[in-house]
Amino acid sequence: MTTHPPAWPPPWATRRDAAVHSAVQAGLVSSEDPLAAFVDLRGIAETAQAIKAAWPERLDVRHTFAAKANSLVPILRIIRGHGLGCEVASAGEFAQALAAGFPAREIVFDSPAKTQGELAEAIRAGIAINADNFQELDRIDAILKRESLPSLPNIGVRINPQVGVGDIEAVSTAGAQSKFGIALRDDGAREELLDAFTHHPWLRWIHVHVGSQGSPIKLIAEGISAAVELAEEVNRSAGERRVAGIDIGGGVSVDFEGEDAPDFAGHAAAAFAAAPALARGEFQLVTEFGRSVMAKNGFMASTVEYTKSAGGRRIAVTHAGAHVATRTTLAPEAWPLRVFAYDAEGLPKIAATVEQDIAGPCCFAGDLVASARELPLLEQDDIIAVADTGAYNFSAPYRYNSLPMPAVYGFEITEDGDVHFSTLRRAETVADLVREAGGALG
Ligand SMILES: *Cc1c(COP(=O)(O)O)cnc(C)c1O
Repeated sequence: MTTHPPAWPPPWATRRDAAVHSAVQAGLVSSEDPLAAFVDLRGIAETAQAIKAAWPERLDVRHTFAAKANSLVPILRIIRGHGLGCEVASAGEFAQALAAGFPAREIVFDSPAKTQGELAEAIRAGIAINADNFQELDRIDAILKRESLPSLPNIGVRINPQVGVGDIEAVSTAGAQSKFGIALRDDGAREELLDAFTHHPWLRWIHVHVGSQGSPIKLIAEGISAAVELAEEVNRSAGERRVAGIDIGGGVSVDFEGEDAPDFAGHAAAAFAAAPALARGEFQLVTEFGRSVMAKNGFMASTVEYTKSAGGRRIAVTHAGAHVATRTTLAPEAWPLRVFAYDAEGLPKIAATVEQDIAGPCCFAGDLVASARELPLLEQDDIIAVADTGAYNFSAPYRYNSLPMPAVYGFEITEDGDVHFSTLRRAETVADLVREAGGALG
């Protein structure tokens, strides 16, 4: 008889089960601390590896992590440890990236609304900037004329290739009327851009980010292709390698309904097919993945505080709601989340399934992380896990009902199957909430 050793490392789903059980046993999720978030540290390492593996080593690619997807400083530090850079889009994210130890040359500053002060600071610090529009290019020009800098950071301009929107309009950025970048196909825009490259020798990068979740890889590749075509045109008319690099943005989708890993290899292959100059190494490259780096590497666990039924509808009232899963509760069709049921000990609950609504603690009726979901019938003191919430959820809380931000724990599973937790963010206390609400101002 042959025996097979247990799979090591265990896959995502198994690690989630192990972490829930250990967290409940360790009291990290309890009646006193009914909601906590967990980050799979091995998962982050595997994801960073998958991103790097998708791009041939011979190419000059800097992979950055879009900080808005999860800007907890310890997480940024872990991601830096795996060799990624950081894309920031506000002064706050910039400061968080610095606190995480990213050197200036590994940070890219995007934002549609950079102030004069932010631009000057970024230029002095030597971080790469992508300008969003012509007015911003003028501001950068004025700053560069004013300051005499020994060396220039990489400065690019964001184009909107106007290739169309993906499945979710709110996170699509390449529609005809998107608020981001310079609308490339508008009358006169291309000429004005070519002119900007002629007049601003410091302008050496082109940035394109077609959209986030729900943007097909093919659409993203079309946007990249438009950026490369423009770069080739600029270089042809300049008679030199004026555009040195293309920042191709992020936007690889996440499977919120199953366990498929993000398709980084498919994304790279589509980019090469649409823009062969990239595969030939004619441009330096920057990527800016956010959701695909972190979503599947985080989940939240909550106790079930109460269960009830109303007009035949079964409801489990939990502590995971709009404050930590904002998009899902406000636009549930676009942002489904999987929920897993565990018993009060944190073991997978095995029972016949029943349609249930999983409600949060917020005082509005739409505060549901799942509706009419088939799950083993939940009971008081059971535990639920809300999967794939490592990006844009517990790290980007919504201040509703003055609900505190939950603690965030990193976890790792040893070869013996022990789960080790580390604190990445402490739970907010009610005293913190009072202070934050101006309570100290008298
Ligand atoms: C949000 C954003 C990203 C990251 O998008 P994901 O869908 O999370 O990968 C990258 N670049 C820019 C400019 C963004 O605004």
